[in-house]
Amino acid sequence: MKIKALKGVQDILPAEIDQWNFVHEKAAKIFSRYGYIQIIVPIIEESGLFTRSIGQQTDIVEKEMYTFLDRGNRSIALRPEATASIVRAYLEHNYNQAGLTKFFYSGVMFRGEKPQAGRNRQFYQIGVEALGTYNPFLDAETLSLAIEYLKEIGIKNFSILVNTVGSSEDKQNFSKKLKSFLNNRKDYLCDHCKSRYERNVLRILDCKNKSCRKILINAPKIIDCLSRDSLRDFAMFQNALELLGVDYTFDPYLVRGLDYYTKTVFEITHDKLGAQNTILAGGRYDNLVEQLGGPATGAVGFACGVERLLLAEEAESFTPNNAGKQSIYAIGLGESAYNKIFEIAHNLRRNSISVHIDFERKSLKAQMRQANKLNCSHVLILGDDELNKDSIMIKYMDRGTQELIKINSALKVIKKEIP
Ligand code: ATP
Ligand code: MG
Repeated sequence: MKIKALKGVQDILPAEIDQWNFVHEKAAKIFSRYGYIQIIVPIIEESGLFTRSIGQQTDIVEKEMYTFLDRGNRSIALRPEATASIVRAYLEHNYNQAGLTKFFYSGVMFRGEKPQAGRNRQFYQIGVEALGTYNPFLDAETLSLAIEYLKEIGIKNFSILVNTVGSSEDKQNFSKKLKSFLNNRKDYLCDHCKSRYERNVLRILDCKNKSCRKILINAPKIIDCLSRDSLRDFAMFQNALELLGVDYTFDPYLVRGLDYYTKTVFEITHDKLGAQNTILAGGRYDNLVEQLGGPATGAVGFACGVERLLLAEEAESFTPNNAGKQSIYAIGLGESAYNKIFEIAHNLRRNSISVHIDFERKSLKAQMRQANKLNCSHVLILGDDELNKDSIMIKYMDRGTQELIKINSALKVIKKEIP
């Protein structure tokens, strides 16, 4: 039996690579404009890093994390996200002594979820983490960076949702209030929310189930249960968004699935993506650095799903402009001509020209067919006749013309064609 890729795990095929590279290259370019520097953190970490940061009672840690015991009987996890690793690295390498530090990253993540469109078990994220301040202007800058990024990669039809979940004390107080509100309504919640009631009551606010939504209509709102500090910070955040001209929707029920979020949370959804329509999500996490053993440090970040970005681009029929990638197909017919073309191809490649060559000694016709299939801009044909005259035939595929040139001028001619 043929072996297939695992369920929920995808190959990124060559046909998608231009688009793939495009969103990564744009990210690096735009993020650095805002002072972000790149970091690459490991794919495996001690499982405890994630249970301590994301939270023991979250879906990710309870049900979705891929963990295994290594040979030393240590519990290791394939990372489900990068924020915890970045905070670990930030502390391990003493970045906390350097003031505000802004990291960006990209890489693969793993979550054992039910695979569906836009939801994989192995997926890629691009994200940023800024550590070192409590100022809500940073929250606004971070969200506006996310928006600028999406626009630059050709995504337009998105909505921006923002909310505040308050400080960790606010969250605890509110959770109690919500619990007592739901106490005599519990039986009407969906099964998932029934278990959330015990484990992570805040997440019920996020449920899409109709009966849960109905119950929540009269539920207390986080915004009405905040401390003065949290309210002030949320007002400052909104004010800063206004300064930046960000057009957002306040969603009083927006909560995130990871425990470490405090105060500002946001999500960007795409209007044409169906059920998995969140392309980017983030917020502030003021307790995480301390929780992982560092000094109290304010921080904000976001992550976007690369696969979903590509789906969004597809939905908007956006393709990056990659014109200008030209290549040569080099054909040698007969023993000595083949030897010579093999050498010519090598020299062209050393001069930055991309060259295809056949290894099966196929017929001229078959090789021309291959050149067409590969969309080559030029074909070089060397037969024994040409070789005897130190010449080579060059075919200009776009123009449909050809010309006999001297072998020793071939590089010059091609360089003029393909600068
Ligand atoms: P979701 O809305 O899919 O449940 P989440 O709340 O788990 O996302 P985060 O953990 O904050 O979101 O991840 C940030 C982004 O990463 C998501 O908005 C999404 O674009 C992407 N993402 C998360 N999980 C997956 C997945 N299983 N497959 C593909 N992309 C994902
Ligand atoms: Mg999720």
